[in-house]
Amino acid sequence: MKRNDRILVLQKAAEAMARGDFTPDIPVGDDEIGHLGKSLKALSDYLQRQSERTQSLYRIMLECNLNLHLIDVLNHIFESFKQHLSYDRITLALLESEGNKLKLHWSRPCYQRLVLNIGQSIPMSDKALQAILNSREMLIINDLNSHLEEFPASRLTQAIFREGIRSCLICPLLATGKVLGFVFFSSRKKNVFEDSNLYQGLPLQIASQLSALIEKTQLYRGVKQNKQLMAQKRSLEQRVTHDVLTGLLNRMAIFDILHKQIQRAKRGGYGIAVIMIDIDHFKNINDTYGHLAGDAVLCEIASRLSQSARAHEYIGRYGGEEFLAIISPYDRDGAIKAAERLRAAVACKAIQADHSLIPVTISLGVAIGSISDILDANLLLRRADKALYSAKHQGRNRVEIASENSAEESCINSPEK
Ligand code: GH3
Ligand code: MG
Ligand code: MG
Repeated sequence: MKRNDRILVLQKAAEAMARGDFTPDIPVGDDEIGHLGKSLKALSDYLQRQSERTQSLYRIMLECNLNLHLIDVLNHIFESFKQHLSYDRITLALLESEGNKLKLHWSRPCYQRLVLNIGQSIPMSDKALQAILNSREMLIINDLNSHLEEFPASRLTQAIFREGIRSCLICPLLATGKVLGFVFFSSRKKNVFEDSNLYQGLPLQIASQLSALIEKTQLYRGVKQNKQLMAQKRSLEQRVTHDVLTGLLNRMAIFDILHKQIQRAKRGGYGIAVIMIDIDHFKNINDTYGHLAGDAVLCEIASRLSQSARAHEYIGRYGGEEFLAIISPYDRDGAIKAAERLRAAVACKAIQADHSLIPVTISLGVAIGSISDILDANLLLRRADKALYSAKHQGRNRVEIASENSAEESCINSPEK
């Protein structure tokens, strides 16, 4: 090829590299132009490696953003940078116990035998690591043998030396001003990591991506734990205030509401209604269909009662097969209608349990407290109980209302039978 043509080929190769194509054909030789070709070839190789590194880093960065699984990302790093950093093993260790201990979190070698125990915690006594902790800079140990002679007490160095590691590059994992741990690139050859400039800060960039991911994972874990704690708190609160079998408010919670509503009614100058509810002939249901079917009936009645209750009507399980409803603010007609609504919700259709259709009814006693001096929880409960007794006496499946001013109850509502 003529001299001018050879120069033209080199010129075209340089232009191709400027466009981002780092693998053009570059003729080399022993004359002046051939040497220029060699230099250009070295440049193209360098740019190609650099480009691959950048692409790998970019992929890791993307993965760190999309993937919260640290182990997946570490494996990806291990596979992506073999050509750029001559490691035989990568290890991740995180600081714990306020920086006093180092926990080996992950390690992957190119060889079979791994002496290090993952999950093992070791005291942070290693001088080299202490130095990184203070300087927060990357450290290269070119010859672990001489390092061990200098610091013979280092358990970590002893362990990795036994494993055959002869040199290593250690990067701190930095996040929001503190050291989270270290990433170790280790080789079984000496002086492998000698020229740190060669990597153009690659280990530090990898460490920086890992730090961000670890911090994000820890934050994420914190948020998750917080959510779990909140859910546990809610479930505990639910258990304290609700009946386990029926899911209704329990006796303590419905009493609490009764006392609060009485205070509110007193302040607001209005009355409240208390309805005592008891299942009719429930013992017969247990005796006929068994206790489990009895439980199912109890649950279905509880569900029907709470479904037919309105926004300001509270229903709780008062005792075994007895319920208490509180209606506030009180309206006499409204209270009677509410009691009748609850009665009808239970009586309207038989309950399916133990492969049978079980007809069930309830009796209800309503007590109304409208004048502030008789707004007393015990008095209201006593009167509601008495009205309930009267409902039972008068044939069950009915609502009885205690008169406001006397201890007498008068029958207000009787269902058609
Ligand atoms: P009445 O119409 O007069 O109220 O008759 P009754 O049979 O409903 O009343 P009694 O007080 O004689 O019986 C109530 C029964 O309720 C007795 C008890 O075993 C049953 N019971 C109480 N709590 C539960 C429970 O949680 N599950 C079941 N299956 N039965 C219960
Ligand atoms: Mg009873
Ligand atoms: Mg009963």
